[in-house]
Amino acid sequence: MGRKEDNIKKAMKIMRNIEYIRNIGIVAHIDHGKTTLSDNLIAGAGMMSEELAGKQLVLDFDEQEQARGITINTAAASMVHEYEGNEYLINLLDTPGHVDFGGDVTRAMRAVDGAIVVVCAVEGVMPQTETVLRQALKERVRPVLFINKVDRLINELKLDGQQMMARFEKIIKEVNKLIRRYTPEEFKDKWMVRVEDGTVAFGSAYHNWAISVPFMKKTGISFKDVFEHLEKGESKELAKKAPLHRIVLDMVIQHLPNPREAQAYRIPKIWKGDINTPLGQAMIKCDPKGPVGMMITKIVMDPHAGEVAVGRLFSGTLRRGQELYIVGMGNRKYRIQQLSMMVGPDRIPVDELDAGNIPAIIGLKDAIAGSTVSSIPDVEPFEPMKHYSEPVVTVAI
Ligand code: GDP
Repeated sequence: MGRKEDNIKKAMKIMRNIEYIRNIGIVAHIDHGKTTLSDNLIAGAGMMSEELAGKQLVLDFDEQEQARGITINTAAASMVHEYEGNEYLINLLDTPGHVDFGGDVTRAMRAVDGAIVVVCAVEGVMPQTETVLRQALKERVRPVLFINKVDRLINELKLDGQQMMARFEKIIKEVNKLIRRYTPEEFKDKWMVRVEDGTVAFGSAYHNWAISVPFMKKTGISFKDVFEHLEKGESKELAKKAPLHRIVLDMVIQHLPNPREAQAYRIPKIWKGDINTPLGQAMIKCDPKGPVGMMITKIVMDPHAGEVAVGRLFSGTLRRGQELYIVGMGNRKYRIQQLSMMVGPDRIPVDELDAGNIPAIIGLKDAIAGSTVSSIPDVEPFEPMKHYSEPVVTVAI
């Protein structure tokens, strides 16, 4: 069995174990490396067939999108990663990086509990960094920081160790300023990113290496070692010693919440229904035994199967053949014809999926991005989503 197939089998097991799931997105200013990071994480975690790894951008399956280098489709990809002896399932939702697709960023944010904020070490914090980070924080999505393109600081800008540190410090300070500005009061301190605790990692998504303080402590690799490798142009060796996916996925598992932990504080914010109803209680507890509560975040077109609805299952368990209601469609029932999890462009059919996961469903043909789906008719829909775009500049005439 190939590594990918093996990982798909593992993913099927872990998806029943809520504490071992993380639903995350990657957010960044355009060109800061979101697509490269997504692709190399998925390849590194072994979720791509060998021949595709490095050749094809898994999440960018739309050709037009590839040509433009802008990620339009919000698809999901699941990865399996081992951390401290346990295997975890990381569902990565691809979030559009371009401000024109702000609505899609918002939807993807609603479906995740954590975000990797990518900032290019050369450009630093840019306007869209603020837009997407603000969006994440409004949805109570916890951030971690990845400072990308560190290779360029040495190869192009020829900075020395101290100058590099100063640059990192400036970026971290600016990101924390934004976190302080937009984070709800109760999480302000907890959600700051810090080098020492490993909520910040540095690296090169393109050259496939990364570094963080916890990883340096664990392995004995020092920042000086990293610097020396880079100066000698040995990024391949570095990628072997400090593989990107390991450092970044360790950071995700250690610091971003599991669905149950997150839903306890996110549901009251993103769903305005009565928390004391069976649906409210089930969603707050991420209970697989409760009624189905799901929000569709994206409709993906499949050339053979037609429309596939992808979203976050907040409560209940989905089964093939089950009938569901779409809020706004009255008492009409929609049967789940096929249920799957998404691994890049592949949909892997499953018989059941529990709360906390990101299912892909064929059969909900009237669903649109933003629809609320439940096993109960007429439930309170998820709050209409607000999305933030670039600050409006008013010109006095
Ligand atoms: P996105 O718009 O945020 O998805 O950015 P992309 O992943 O498409 O990257 C934008 C450009 O930066 C591409 O040409 C990448 O090859 C390049 N790039 C991404 N990561 C790195 C990196 O770590 N180092 C260098 N030198 N280039 C990178």
